[in-house]
Amino acid sequence: MTAMNVLPQALRAYAPRAQFLPFSPPDISEEEIAAVVDTLRSGWISAGPKTKQFEREFGAFIGSEAALSLNSCTAGLHLALVAMGIGANAGGSASDEVITTTMTFCSSVNVIEHVNATPVLVDIDPQTLNLDPAAVERAITPNTKAIIVVHIAGHPAELAPLQDLARKHDLRIIEDAAHAVPARYEGQMIGNIGDVTAFSFYATKNLTTGEGGMLTGKAEYVDKARLYSSHGMNRDAWKRYSASGSWFYEVVAPGFKYNMNDMQAALGLTQLARLETMQQHRYAVAARYNAAFADVAALQTPTARANVQHAWHLYILRLNLEALTIDRARFIDELKERNIGTSVHFIPVHLHPYYRDRYGYTPDSFPVAYGEFQRTLSLPLRSNLSEGDIEDVIGAVLNVVETFGR
Ligand SMILES: *Cc1c(COP(=O)(O)O)cnc(C)c1O
Repeated sequence: MTAMNVLPQALRAYAPRAQFLPFSPPDISEEEIAAVVDTLRSGWISAGPKTKQFEREFGAFIGSEAALSLNSCTAGLHLALVAMGIGANAGGSASDEVITTTMTFCSSVNVIEHVNATPVLVDIDPQTLNLDPAAVERAITPNTKAIIVVHIAGHPAELAPLQDLARKHDLRIIEDAAHAVPARYEGQMIGNIGDVTAFSFYATKNLTTGEGGMLTGKAEYVDKARLYSSHGMNRDAWKRYSASGSWFYEVVAPGFKYNMNDMQAALGLTQLARLETMQQHRYAVAARYNAAFADVAALQTPTARANVQHAWHLYILRLNLEALTIDRARFIDELKERNIGTSVHFIPVHLHPYYRDRYGYTPDSFPVAYGEFQRTLSLPLRSNLSEGDIEDVIGAVLNVVETFGR
């Protein structure tokens, strides 16, 4: 062993990694590959027995009354609004209002436009980056029908005050849990708290089916969503063609084509079985980053409140810009120079041209979200990071801070 190897990491000369570290390639093992191949050989590749099994197993894992597998989380959010009759396109009114956070992926808000209701954006809690219950309360009007709660990064939003508001004003709670599997609020599993919850199994998420989603929650809504997820047909397609099935079906609503298929479900079943192991790795990576960055003046590590179990989907690092000579964009470029891939979650919805122009927003319409947006970046956080990868990320971040610190 040479003298170099016994020096603590911070004292070693910084050397950038040789190969680019991508932000979020999926964690796919030989088990997933075998499961998908098995399905390809089974004679049934569209919605069928595997999607049913995945619904059962995921629903049992969450502990929810009902579960519906879909081709995306976005489809789940859209169907939730349809099932609740919110918006002119779903049997409600164009004046129906749905409150949600500006700090989210666009699809949480696009779905409100899809049903021809009015999205009402609110500002965020600067600690967790989740929607601020006080801002939600101020935004409620007699037209408010629902709140779409996003658990950003996998840290559950403060659901208790939101549930109080929902009871008081007769509002539905729809949760966007694209980041929050598995997560708990006050000990209760996310997916089993609000009226309905939509999960995402997109390629970058904690559990992936390539593309896919699941809607869990109250059977009254999930059953209606099921009908609308398959053209509004009152029979499952796979039953129609199987030996025990019948050719007969009736269209009772102009539904959508939102189902998951058996190849995706085979992937999902294997990922679900591996989820706990994959999560333990995520928790360990987040703990390593927290320990490395906690005492660095230019950096702010993510909040994890004591009343939640964080899913650690994202590690959103915040820059204390007054301690740096560069901005967030340059910080990201400098990490890229050092072969570390990062991302930003999210560009607030009110900054996007469609929403900005349609609703007349300025950046300061939501000053907390705008301010936080300018200093956030997401570091690689996934179950397939090696020890060397973790050290390379930490080394690169500390080197950028050291090079551009004030
Ligand atoms: C990924 C994501 C979605 C969309 O998920 P899809 O399954 O791709 O539809 C929705 N909301 C948030 C917060 C997301 O990050």
